[in-house]
Amino acid sequence: MTDTPLAARLSAHADAIFDRMIEWRRDFHANPELGNQEFRTAGIVADHLERLGFDEVRRGLGGSTGVIGILQGGQPGPCVALRADMDALPVRETTGLPFASGQTGIWGGETVPVMHACGHDAHTAVQMAVAEILVAERASIKGKVMLVFQPAEEGPAPDWQGLSGAARLVADGVFDDPKPDAFFCFHVLQDERPGTAGEIRVHEGAGTYAMNLMRIKIHGRGGHGAFPWRTVDPLLIGAQILTALQAIPAKNVNVNENAVTLSIGIFKGGTKFNVIPETAEMEGALRFTDPATGPYLEERVEAVCRGIAEAAGGRAEVDWYMRVPLVQNDPELTRRMRPSLDRAAPADKPVVEVDNCFLDDVSNFSAIAPLMFFTVGVGLDEGDPDRSGFHHEPTFRVNEEGLRTALKAMTNLAVDYGYETTRNG
Ligand SMILES: [Zn+2]
Ligand SMILES: [Zn+2]
Repeated sequence: MTDTPLAARLSAHADAIFDRMIEWRRDFHANPELGNQEFRTAGIVADHLERLGFDEVRRGLGGSTGVIGILQGGQPGPCVALRADMDALPVRETTGLPFASGQTGIWGGETVPVMHACGHDAHTAVQMAVAEILVAERASIKGKVMLVFQPAEEGPAPDWQGLSGAARLVADGVFDDPKPDAFFCFHVLQDERPGTAGEIRVHEGAGTYAMNLMRIKIHGRGGHGAFPWRTVDPLLIGAQILTALQAIPAKNVNVNENAVTLSIGIFKGGTKFNVIPETAEMEGALRFTDPATGPYLEERVEAVCRGIAEAAGGRAEVDWYMRVPLVQNDPELTRRMRPSLDRAAPADKPVVEVDNCFLDDVSNFSAIAPLMFFTVGVGLDEGDPDRSGFHHEPTFRVNEEGLRTALKAMTNLAVDYGYETTRNG
């Protein structure tokens, strides 16, 4: 479709709506919400889609705040789905921006600061702008477009057992009817390189790693700290487990074929210095690049936990509470849709092919239809005296100029897919 009047119109629409899209993004940024609690954000999104005249707007999906809007184009064709995530993180923002977040939220029963430290505010705003452009061009669209706004990409809230936002949407069957024929998704990329605003990076094939999250519960026997022989100390068992687990990536893995890391991020137990507690808990992530080794690695973790706890007279249970598959970009889809990305890329920043991409729970959608995931750079300009941290850091910033490219790319993909498919089919 290069240089067709329609392509030129899409680009002009994107430039025309850009300033309003940035206002939306800043509003979301100032009002971030944690996973499964994106009530304000989801309400704004769903109202927007209804006001635009989407044929169908479903609210409250994925057990919480998911929104799906369906727009029927003016011509017959396939169903293409785009994904944006809406959740923020328990991080205290220190950017000092005029629209910085001062909000708090509830996470695991505790009040915590909340910040859009991964850029999902930008994703949501971009997809709202995509919606508006598609409605303006409805007559030219071949097939249906489904806009998916998902909760909890960063994992479910602690009191939400089990599934992250995308996995939950799949499990709930929200894609049964209509069933998408392809999924497209972008993530902003702030990798601290200046001058990357609008740089598209895409990879044909599987992404970096899969991630299985574990919760280890250690049962001992509590008692007086002065009489340790009467107790089974779950903290000591935990300390030994924590150390022993590090041997799994080092000694149980063929490092030439599989990159494995095992990190424990939470280790807690006890409330007073002279009371040995009954239990202790750990939480962490096993990450690995060869998905076939997942069951084996889980078994190793369980054997280590069980063996050490039993040797000390206690007991350990391992709960794999979430498994996030690798992002699998469909090579054929990625090749076919490449012209849509090329057309969106700024003239001085051609699309970059990379040999991996980072993890996003949109990977779960590969179970439904072929997926293409890509990143769009939001690095600060060369010479900008401000600095930005990486994703999830309190100083994380987004160069909003990069979102112009993201908007053009997503709009092109939504429209071009129908033309591509009907031409080939
Ligand atoms: Zn993130
Ligand atoms: Zn993210």
